[in-house]
Amino acid sequence: MTDEFWKRKSLAQMNSDEWESLCDGCALCCLQKLEDEDSGEVFFTDISCKLLDLDTCRCTNYESRTKLVASCLSLSIEDPAAFGWLPSTCAYRRLSNGEELPAWHPLLTGDPQSVHDAGISVMGKATSELETDEYTVLRQI
Ligand code: SF4
Ligand code: SF4
Repeated sequence: MTDEFWKRKSLAQMNSDEWESLCDGCALCCLQKLEDEDSGEVFFTDISCKLLDLDTCRCTNYESRTKLVASCLSLSIEDPAAFGWLPSTCAYRRLSNGEELPAWHPLLTGDPQSVHDAGISVMGKATSELETDEYTVLRQI
């Protein structure tokens, strides 16, 4: 059985492998966002970052991502305010709010495909910013 480290450790106590494994691979944070000036509500569009591989939902240059894309979020426990830009399904946001991991999370299912099978990820829903600048709103953050 998997060690459910996220239940006995805070985000600040996790090692780098544990921290990285919290990412479910949804790629929602790799979509362009819109903010309603009046309400402050933030929405994901269906336009993805130029570095996102839409077939795998993985970054094509993860190591250099923050140098290549100024708006790329580099998550760390030292900057908890950044979790507010993550979707409500994201493990970093959920754990920082005292919530559980969702049942489809790969750490619980043991299957990286489960985030796609559950319809949470951007797979099949987004177009690269390299191909279009026409967007529709996908969902609220
Ligand atoms: S939203 Fe969260 S879980 Fe999804 S890709 Fe981004 S960091 Fe990973
Ligand atoms: S640089 Fe990579 S991790 Fe950052 S938003 Fe783009 S695709 Fe996502």
